[in-house]
Amino acid sequence: MKNVAVIGAGTMGNGIAHVCALAGYDVGLFDVSKDRIEAGLATINGNLARRVRSGKLSEADRDAALSRIRGVPSYEGFGDYDLIIESAVEDEQVKRKIYQSLCPHLKPDCLVGTNTSSISITEIASSVGDAADRVIGMHFFNPVPVMKLVEVINGLATSKETTDRTM
Ligand code: NAD
Repeated sequence: MKNVAVIGAGTMGNGIAHVCALAGYDVGLFDVSKDRIEAGLATINGNLARRVRSGKLSEADRDAALSRIRGVPSYEGFGDYDLIIESAVEDEQVKRKIYQSLCPHLKPDCLVGTNTSSISITEIASSVGDAADRVIGMHFFNPVPVMKLVEVINGLATSKETTDRTM
């Protein structure tokens, strides 16, 4: 697994992009507009700068992490990613529309994680056609760069391979 795309650049999404980039993954960040993506990137920039100031991160590691994150302008840009982590607003209809637009563009082995707090993983998987076995819950905690716990939640259709690769 080399790269991760995060959908939703808000509170959780920008934190997830932040930790994935620090862990060495190339990260794509997507939201409803260029402005939202840029706001997410600015937050990541500020949070990494604070870690540099407090001596928890070197400038070189900060620069390397920032260089690994880029905005994804449209769903067509998702075809190269190994893992998607959807962290858009907690609205089932919005999430369903996202998956319907997203899934036709994904690689056949791309994993589809969702950071939902309350929507059933099985319900979400029902909107992704034949990719249901690759849908899994990845529930991060706020603030993501500080909280190490991530709950991994299977839906009824999630395959063992998806769980193993996610872990
Ligand atoms: P947020 O409001 O801070 O961010 C949501 C982002 O989703 C916004 O940037 C918004 O523009 C974007 N968005 C809306 N519609 C979209 C679309 N169609 N396509 C792409 N992006 C879209 O919300 P948040 O707190 O980051 O929550 C995101 C997810 O994380 C939710 O599913 C929530 O349940 C879950 N979650 C939140 C917390 C928390 O403490 N905030 C903790 C765990 C999980």
